[in-house]
Amino acid sequence: MTPPRVWDLAVVGAGPAGAAAALGALHARPGLSVLLVDRSDFPRDKSCGDGIAPHVLDLLAEVGVTGLVHDRVPVTRLRLERGRATVARTMRRAAWVVPRSVFDARLVDAACDAGAHLLRHRVRDIAVGRQGVRLDGSITARLVVGADGAHSRVRASTGARRTSTALALRAYAPVVPGREGEQVIAFGSGRAPAYAWSFDRGDGLANVGYGELLSPDRPQPTRSSLVARLEDLLPGSIAGATGWRGHHLPLSPARWAHPDGRVLLAGDAAGLVNPLTGEGIYYAVATGLAAGRTAAEALAHGDGADAGRAYRRAVRSLLAGHLRHTALAGGLARSGRVLEAGMLAASRDQRVFDDLVELGLGRGRITPAVVGGLLHAAGGRLVHAAKERG
Ligand SMILES: Cc1cc2nc3c(=O)[nH]c(=O)nc-3n(C[C@H](O)[C@H](O)[C@H](O)COP(=O)(O)OP(=O)(O)OC[C@H]3O[C@@H](n4cnc5c(N)ncnc54)[C@H](O)[C@@H]3O)c2cc1C
Repeated sequence: MTPPRVWDLAVVGAGPAGAAAALGALHARPGLSVLLVDRSDFPRDKSCGDGIAPHVLDLLAEVGVTGLVHDRVPVTRLRLERGRATVARTMRRAAWVVPRSVFDARLVDAACDAGAHLLRHRVRDIAVGRQGVRLDGSITARLVVGADGAHSRVRASTGARRTSTALALRAYAPVVPGREGEQVIAFGSGRAPAYAWSFDRGDGLANVGYGELLSPDRPQPTRSSLVARLEDLLPGSIAGATGWRGHHLPLSPARWAHPDGRVLLAGDAAGLVNPLTGEGIYYAVATGLAAGRTAAEALAHGDGADAGRAYRRAVRSLLAGHLRHTALAGGLARSGRVLEAGMLAASRDQRVFDDLVELGLGRGRITPAVVGGLLHAAGGRLVHAAKERG
């Protein structure tokens, strides 16, 4: 196609948030000119646990994208551990473990099939004018979606504040006997979220890793300390491991903010990673779609100058309640006792387990079942401790 002089929408970053933004816009208005810009060629690797929640696939099906995981093995078992506390149950719905080199390339293909134009380019400069946005002085668009990840340049250009951040490292290693067919999460004693994981990909390899919350008053953990914590929490994980890669995770706050104007931020660029679990692909796809749809709507009814405000409203109506609950849960989970009480409650009651999975992978809330289960488990522990003291 001959590139237009002014694109309707330019999306910076073609990860799940960016591809979803292009898909959301083009599904709403197939005639829009949409430029999808990424500094990398696809397929490209991305440091990640590769866990894809079923909710992600539900959202993509809404814009006609299906079959993304048809050749992968579903994982139905989830095991949570902390010291001697453990719960292992079947999830209500299967999840998937798909290397991001595969998953993201498939999403980019879907966006291009829908009509997006893919350009390899590293965006360095973002200038917002009255009529549109200029990228590096050479690309002009009426609206821009910033989906350029945790270290987003687009986000920095809006002056939006950074959220608290975690650091995690992953590798691929042969599945350790006893961990086949499972997603295993072993919580550590670092500042939550601090956990090691082993996610069986279904092809003999597991995605293994460890991550923890960064603290401004402590030095950033080194690569070797992260690897040591992984091996400590999940012994045997690192034997034969290759492809080590680390990255930051911007954790979502209780109250999410977004500026007005022509620039919409989605996914990691919007500071949206679940503070309880470190999951971010669901938020990336949900907010990417919302950004694309909002952009299409704003351009249909005006020149797009109001898009930021409309987008903030759309994301808040989707996620505000959930984000308050995950922030609260993330804070509570910093206490090992609460974590262990949660595991005990989930091992006693499938409903509590299912509700916690929804909170960690989708947009669930702290439900009455979870509160009741926690209180019951905590009460039991107090009685037990009192009996032990005599
Ligand atoms: C170790 C680790 C494990 C994780 N595990 C999970 C998990 O199991 N499940 C889960 O749901 N989430 C997980 N997450 C979080 C998840 O990886 C992110 O939330 C998700 O990738 C966000 O998608 P995104 O599209 O916003 O950003 P990204 O996937 O980071 O994509 C951003 C894109 O922008 C491009 N880009 C960046 N800067 C520029 C620029 N200046 N110009 C042009 N292009 C640019 C990049 O090349 C990239 O393709 C994990 C994160 C880490 C670090």
